[in-house]
Amino acid sequence: MNLFVTGGAGFIGSNFVRMAVERGHSVLNFDALTYAGRRENLSDLETIANYKFIQGNICDESSVRSAFEQTFNGNFDATINFAAESHVDRSIHSARIFSETNVLGTATMLEVSKACGVPIFIQISTDEVYGSLGASGNFSRSSPLNPSSPYSSTKTAADLIALSFHHTWGYDVRITRCTNNYGAYQFPEKFIPTIITRALRGDAIPVYGDGLQVRDWIYVKDHCEGIFEVLESGKPAQTYLFGGSSEMTNLDLSKTILTSLAKKTAKSENEFLKLITHVTDRLGHDRRYSMDWSTSESELGWTPTTSFERGIEETVEWYLRNEAWWKSLIG
Ligand code: NAD
Repeated sequence: MNLFVTGGAGFIGSNFVRMAVERGHSVLNFDALTYAGRRENLSDLETIANYKFIQGNICDESSVRSAFEQTFNGNFDATINFAAESHVDRSIHSARIFSETNVLGTATMLEVSKACGVPIFIQISTDEVYGSLGASGNFSRSSPLNPSSPYSSTKTAADLIALSFHHTWGYDVRITRCTNNYGAYQFPEKFIPTIITRALRGDAIPVYGDGLQVRDWIYVKDHCEGIFEVLESGKPAQTYLFGGSSEMTNLDLSKTILTSLAKKTAKSENEFLKLITHVTDRLGHDRRYSMDWSTSESELGWTPTTSFERGIEETVEWYLRNEAWWKSLIG
């Protein structure tokens, strides 16, 4: 297939693009290269004929249109919209750029994709559109949309605009909503890379509030597998939920990673653990997320295949091997 991928220089997008090219798909990676995007993440693909990179902003209609027209003779089988401002903390400090990229950018991608005759549009969304859970239960397709942060509110708006293109024109729009991803190439500001990179530098590791917020973690390649399933056998206007069934508190997650680091470096576990520093909680911090992804199993045959134990070992080792990559991003 010929795929128009936005945000392919970011964390999940670059993992997805690499897998897509390895599977024989042709990919145009259209990315603005914000602070979160690194063209070098996929520089080894640039000599391959079925991979193209164009720097551009998804809010800029004429750039998006000309990227469609000048690549693969204008023939695309699907648009996959990963591009977003993705960090909740940044959205609390400045909501405007989140509204621009996540809402206007998605609307622009929908309009141009439809106008250029791209048959399928996949919107990459998040479990955060459902808001926060109590100690038990999980989100399902029928859970009400109840976003809390500026980030999740703009992602919710984007999902609704995407679905409106189906209701209005019958456009084949498919939505994916996934829990927290981890793996290679995640920008160091996110929680797992923060733990690893600050521990390796001997810096305090900030843990919000009591650290008992619960997140479900999924290995990024399992999420990408789900997106391929949606591309190949998803249905129009359907929402597909993905999760790793690996729920844990932020504090337990920090300890697990630091234990793993101690086994792989010369420092002791205690030297790492004493770096954990509780800081003032994030404003409006969601307490718990959890996903019932059984509909993705029954309808797509998808299940996550990487255990948290294996995925986190691979991730820790990736950050140990790629110190130059993350050091260049944090200065
Ligand atoms: P990321 O921040 O690592 O990457 C975002 C990419 O989008 C970057 O390459 C950036 O340069 C690009 N971008 C930003 N604004 C752009 C614009 N205006 N035009 C073109 N490109 C632009 O994000 P990520 O963690 O890889 O997340 C990718 C998608 O998956 C996002 O839509 C996010 O909401 C969603 N998601 C992420 C997670 C997670 O745990 N990371 C979980 C569920 C859903």
